[in-house]
Amino acid sequence: MSPAHPLAAPLLAGNRRALAKAITLVESHRPEHEREAQALLTELLPHAGHSLRVGLTGVPGVGKSTLIEALGMFLAEAGHKVAVLAVDPSSKRTGGSIMGDKTRMPQLTVHPNAFIRPSPSGGTLGGVARRTRETITLCEAAGYDVLLVETVGVGQSETQVAGMTDLFVLLTLHGAGDELQGIKRGIMEMSDLCVVNKADTDPRAAIRAQTELRSALTLLTPHDAPWRPAALRASAVTGEGIPELWAKIQEYAATVDLAAKRRAQTAVWFDDLLREAVWRAFLAGHDPARLRELRAQVERGEKAAVAAVGEVMAHPTAQPT
Ligand code: GDP
Repeated sequence: MSPAHPLAAPLLAGNRRALAKAITLVESHRPEHEREAQALLTELLPHAGHSLRVGLTGVPGVGKSTLIEALGMFLAEAGHKVAVLAVDPSSKRTGGSIMGDKTRMPQLTVHPNAFIRPSPSGGTLGGVARRTRETITLCEAAGYDVLLVETVGVGQSETQVAGMTDLFVLLTLHGAGDELQGIKRGIMEMSDLCVVNKADTDPRAAIRAQTELRSALTLLTPHDAPWRPAALRASAVTGEGIPELWAKIQEYAATVDLAAKRRAQTAVWFDDLLREAVWRAFLAGHDPARLRELRAQVERGEKAAVAAVGEVMAHPTAQPT
């Protein structure tokens, strides 16, 4: 057996510096760090898994950070250990990224029961999502029992976050149509809870929006689904609806077979990683000019795509001649 990683013991004891250092290690792109991170993750994996993983999305300005601060404070004050993570492929550690700015959650940032980590910076969505997944493992091993994973609400990061969390919460606004809010049907479909935020600004409009959302969700949900997605109202600023949101999250956790959901997610995750690794290995062993040429031929209609792929696979390790 390989010796224990020096960060493992302090991290398991809940030491925040050790946790931060371990996250920096899994976020590193250097090959020797990647190997070290894998060893550490393998060691910590048996200690992970004991948390509720909540994904949150919504368009910029809907109130994600304000609501995460309100929910996070509610939970931290009740004795939960709350970790806040983010998936934002556009984030840069320096340069004032919206997701990376700790001042967005001023109270939670300094709460002893909370740990906030901005999105890993740089790289592809796949890379950012992978590092966030690994960070989930680290936070759980460090004793955090509620993980709030935020996504920017534009593009593909929602699917990634829904694939790594137990339930997915969509924040919306009243008084703006779905199109205006940029909510795609696909995102509604993957949401287990929808929250009309900023209910304090126009309570009647918020109730109307909640009713509309409820019927939209009913239409989208199959009759035999184990969980009927709920529509709630909240105000991240006044705190109204925050205890109800937590109660609904707990109801979900008690209703749905989370262990089975996680097993399925892990299997998909394995498939994704394998596909990526096979693709990388293939590209590393193949002449890129040959691929470009075949692709151009397909594009020009000189060769059928199927035939071109057949040619590639007949000599999968073809190198420049
Ligand atoms: P994010 O971009 O989704 O993270 O949104 P923010 O949390 O930064 O909120 C955007 C703006 O909306 C800020 O000025 C917040 O103070 C405000 N805001 C957020 N939630 C509420 C709410 O429930 N009620 C009101 N009145 N304002 C809110």
